[in-house]
Amino acid sequence: EPLIGVLALQGDVREHVAALRASGARAQPVRRDTELSEVDGLVIPGGESTTISRLLAMFGLLDPLRERIAAGLPVYGSCAGMILLAAKVLDGREDQHQLGGLDVIVRRNAFGRQVDSFEEDLDVTGVGSVHAVFIRAPWVESASPEVEVLARVSDTPDVPGGERAAGRIVAVRQGSVLATAFHPELTGDTRVHRLFVKMVEENS
Ligand code: GLN
Repeated sequence: EPLIGVLALQGDVREHVAALRASGARAQPVRRDTELSEVDGLVIPGGESTTISRLLAMFGLLDPLRERIAAGLPVYGSCAGMILLAAKVLDGREDQHQLGGLDVIVRRNAFGRQVDSFEEDLDVTGVGSVHAVFIRAPWVESASPEVEVLARVSDTPDVPGGERAAGRIVAVRQGSVLATAFHPELTGDTRVHRLFVKMVEENS
């Protein structure tokens, strides 16, 4: 059984730990470099990417985590986690740190300010139909050819952002890095976490 860490600096850590355990993995919160070195994979939860970025630097985790991701550690980022993994962020803060691993440009808070949250049923490649919960979510503005697009919002979205949001990319995979703009840990549906556990198992 692989041991999967959940980065526990800020955000909905407990929900991811529970979803991973329900998916047959061992899971533990990660706050220190020593804990990071023990895990076979890592989830970066939703929360506030600017805050998590600042705490990563404060806790001395920025470089160790960048190095492990570059060395092939399987990572799954949800929402703020997706933002942190992206090579570049639009509408981020200037001092926001990036972990890299995902050759995409993301737009923060992309679906607009007026309505922060929405839900949509999405077809996710390799998973099936998923009821996706978006909370002040980013979208992937552009992705390099190495990035596999796993899901897009529909072409006629009944979502904040309207026309601009049509068909936007909201789930991707690049090698051992998985990212979703939405929050599967909130729905009790563990299929996205199971996909990640499988990725970790295949890697170890
Ligand atoms: N808007 C948040 C950010 O910029 C992400 C929201 C979330 O993780 N639910 O980091």
